[in-house]
Amino acid sequence: MNKKLFVVSGSSGVGKGTVLKKFLEKNPDFMLSISCTTRKPRDGEVDGVNYFFISKDEFKHCIDNDKFLEWAEFAGNFYGTKKKFINRCLADGKNIILEIDTQGALKVKRQMPEAVLIFICPPSLEALENRLRGRHTEDEETIQKRLKEVEEELKRAENFDYKIINDNLENAVCELEKIIKEANA
Ligand code: ADP
Ligand code: 5GP
Repeated sequence: MNKKLFVVSGSSGVGKGTVLKKFLEKNPDFMLSISCTTRKPRDGEVDGVNYFFISKDEFKHCIDNDKFLEWAEFAGNFYGTKKKFINRCLADGKNIILEIDTQGALKVKRQMPEAVLIFICPPSLEALENRLRGRHTEDEETIQKRLKEVEEELKRAENFDYKIINDNLENAVCELEKIIKEANA
């Protein structure tokens, strides 16, 4: 089977993590890339599992030494995907999914045109805001910063290969499975 790289993006709170968690439970032969970030861990997040939590200086060092396949600033924090991590997974023949922001997704596509970009849309902007608030992980200032990103994210989504509306969770997971299976066939 020809292994492809899959990139899943969507506005903060749309349900990317939730959809991907269910997908990975059903498809254990896929793995999620672990990104580096300068943001502080949320309660329950573990270094090396959810992210590699690094300082701004370490992040800058990685940029200066060309360690990232892509990186972006999102709502006041830096996030990046290490080249080494991805290359090792692809060399091992692993199916890999990147859950990254829309700027990063488009950077990946420029370097790896075979990458499949999937954008997860909310059923409405109201639902998106309710989900982001309902998660209770961000303070008001951070919520506002994240909501400000939405307009640009929706514009960038026009350049994605696929869009999935995450209204009913099970349906969204099934759609993701269908897209990935077809692309990997
Ligand atoms: P993201 O990873 O995109 O920031 P999360 O996966 O953390 O978003 O989801 C944000 C919130 O929305 C969570 O509380 C999650 O339980 C909820 N959620 C996710 N998908 C759905 C859905 N289809 N319907 C209703 N709530 C959802
Ligand atoms: P969060 O802080 O909610 O975990 O993530 C915020 C945003 O950063 C989300 O859109 C998420 O997909 C994105 N993100 C996570 N890792 C990376 C990465 O390595 N690169 C880029 N460009 N974005 C990332």
